[in-house]
Amino acid sequence: MPGVTRGRLARMGIALLAAGLASATAVYLLRLGNQDRGPAAAPRSASGAVRTVVLVTIDTLRADRVGAYGWAAARTPAMDALAARGARFAQAFATAPITLPSHASLLTGLYPPGHGSRHNGMRVRGEPATLAATLGASGWATGAFIGAFPLDRRFGLDRGFDHYSDRMPRGADGRLLNERPGSQVVDEALAWARGIGDRPCFLWVHLFEPHAPYESDPARGAPGRSAPASVRYDDEVARADREVGRLLAGLGARVPSALVVVAGDHGEAFGEHGEFAHSVFLYDTTLRVPLIIAGPGFPAAAPAAEVSLVDVAPTVLDALGLPPRDADGVSLLPLAKGGTLAPRDLYAETFAPLFDFGWSSLRSVRSGPWKYIAAPSPELYDVASDAGELRNSLERESSRARDLAARVARYSGPEPPAAAGTDAPLDAESRSRLGALGYVASSPAAASGGRADPKAMRGLAARLAQVAAGELEGAALRSALEAIVLEDPRNGQARMRLGYALAASGDLPGAETHFRAALAASMPTAEVHLGLALCFASTGRAREAEGALMEARRLEPGNPVVEANIGSLALEAGDMAKAAEFLGAALRIDPDLHQARFNLARTLARQGRRAEARQEALTLLQRLPADAPQRQEVERLVAALR
Ligand SMILES: [Zn+2]
Repeated sequence: MPGVTRGRLARMGIALLAAGLASATAVYLLRLGNQDRGPAAAPRSASGAVRTVVLVTIDTLRADRVGAYGWAAARTPAMDALAARGARFAQAFATAPITLPSHASLLTGLYPPGHGSRHNGMRVRGEPATLAATLGASGWATGAFIGAFPLDRRFGLDRGFDHYSDRMPRGADGRLLNERPGSQVVDEALAWARGIGDRPCFLWVHLFEPHAPYESDPARGAPGRSAPASVRYDDEVARADREVGRLLAGLGARVPSALVVVAGDHGEAFGEHGEFAHSVFLYDTTLRVPLIIAGPGFPAAAPAAEVSLVDVAPTVLDALGLPPRDADGVSLLPLAKGGTLAPRDLYAETFAPLFDFGWSSLRSVRSGPWKYIAAPSPELYDVASDAGELRNSLERESSRARDLAARVARYSGPEPPAAAGTDAPLDAESRSRLGALGYVASSPAAASGGRADPKAMRGLAARLAQVAAGELEGAALRSALEAIVLEDPRNGQARMRLGYALAASGDLPGAETHFRAALAASMPTAEVHLGLALCFASTGRAREAEGALMEARRLEPGNPVVEANIGSLALEAGDMAKAAEFLGAALRIDPDLHQARFNLARTLARQGRRAEARQEALTLLQRLPADAPQRQEVERLVAALR
C-alpha cells in the first residue's frame, strides 16, 4: 500500500501497474468486436421434461486422457459414469485450440469467423444468439461459474446469463490470480442452484485444473512439480473429475432428468509434432476433445461420426424442443439415437500464431477421412488411416488438396478483417498524440511479406510454451526470453514478456526497449501499452504514461487496472476531479482493487471531502484480509481523517 508522502507516489503508480500483470500476461487483446446487441430471441418455452441443463467445460482436457475414452491410468469416475449412461462422442473436435474462441463456438453454435472471437482477449460479437440468451428468454434461470480469466465477462460470454461468476481471487501479494480452484467454482454453482428453487435452469461450470502449470495431487505422494508433466496433468484431470462428481451429487434431485454435457475446450500437447501446451497448431493433439451428453434422449452410445463443439448448442436446443437457429453446427440428437448426419466439413482455426508471434495463422477443414491444414506449407492427412497426422499426402493428392483449400477459404482467409489492414482503427488525434510520443504501432510485421509457417518455428514455439506455462522465473525466465528474442526479433509476445521480466528485475530502460519493439513487431495490445506506461511513470514521464494508458484503454475498455492507473496519475498530477472519476470507475468494475480505493480516499481527502474519504478508508479496512500487511497504513489514514 502506498504511503501518503509525495515521494512515494511514483512507487504507488508502479505497484498499481504491476497489479495488472497477473492478468496482463494472459490477455492479448486486439480489437473489439461489434458490441451491439442483436434483437432478443423470440421467447418460447422449452418443452418436455428436461428442466435442467448442466454444461461442464473442462479446460485443456484431451479426450484420450479420460477413462471412458480408453486411458487406463485415468482417475475419472464421474465422467466415466456419465459416458456409461449417455452418448460419448468418440471423435469430437474443438473449433480452435484456444479457450475463448472455443467456448464461444460451444455457446453460440458458430465457428470463430461467425462469433468474432479469433483469440483469447478478442471479444465475442454481440449479435449471435447464445444458448444462455435463448434459454433465458424461455424463462430459465441461467448461471455461469468460471474458473479462469480468459472467460472474464469483459470478453462477452456473459450475455444471457442472470448470474456470471468470474471474479478471480487475489494472491498473497494482492495480485489478481488468473485462475481459481474448481472446488470454489463448484461451491458457488451449488449455492446458486439452491437459491433458484425449482425454476428450470441452465448451469455452466468451467473447470481450469488441467491447464498448465500442472500441480501434483498431494494425495498421490509426489509433491510440487517433481513428477513428469504428463503425470501431473493426469492429477489435474482427476481433480477436475472429482469436482464434476461433487457438482452432480450436489445437484441431487435435478440430475436424473437433467441434460448433462461435459466437454473439453481443446486438448494439450506433450511433444507431439514438437508442440507443447496448445494454441499454435491444429493437429488433433489439441483439437480432439471429450464430448459426453447424458440425459433424456441420450441413451448409452458411442457415436463414431466426427462432430464439433459448434454442434453442442443446436443439440441442446433440439433436445429441449426449442427451434433451431442460424448456426454452423447441427443437432447431434439423430446420432445419439443411432442415426447418421449428412456429410459435412468441420472447420477449425488458430490465429494465436499470428496475433501472438506475427507468424501465419492456420485453418483446417476435416472432410470424411481427410484433414487439410491451410498454412504457408499446407498439409493433408488421411486421418482415417493416419490418426497421428504423420504422413503429409499433399503431393500425392494435389487435386483433393486444391479442393479442400478452396473450402477452407470459404470459412476464412488467413488474416481476419480486423488484422488484414495494417491500421487498427486509430483516430487522427490519438495517432498524432501517440506519434509525438514515438510509439504509434507500426504495421504488423508481416504486412511486408509472407509470414513464417508455425511449423518452421516449432522449436521456438515449444520454448515459448514453456515460458507461458509459468515454469520459469527470475533470471532463468529472462535468459530464456532473451534467447528467443535473439532468434525471432519480431516476435511481439516474446518482446512483451521480456519487457515485463526486465521491469520486474528493475531494468526499466531495458524493459522500455522491448515494449517498444513489441509494438513495432505485432498487433498493438493493451498489455504492451500498460508496460510502457509503467516505464514512463517510473521515470517521471507523466504525459507519456498518460498517453500509453489512454491507448491501453482504447484497446481494452473496462480494464479496471487501466482506469485505476489513469486515476492515480491524475492524483499525482494534482487533478483531483479526474482522479476521483477514474478511480471511482475502476472500483465500480473491481471493488477489490485495494490500491485504487486507497488512492480514492486520498483524492477525496485532498478535495476536502473528509467524511467521504474516511468512509472509503473504512470500506477498505473491511475488504482487506485480516492479516494484510497494508492494514496499518490504512488505519493511519483513517486516524488522520478523524
Ligand atoms: Zn482452454
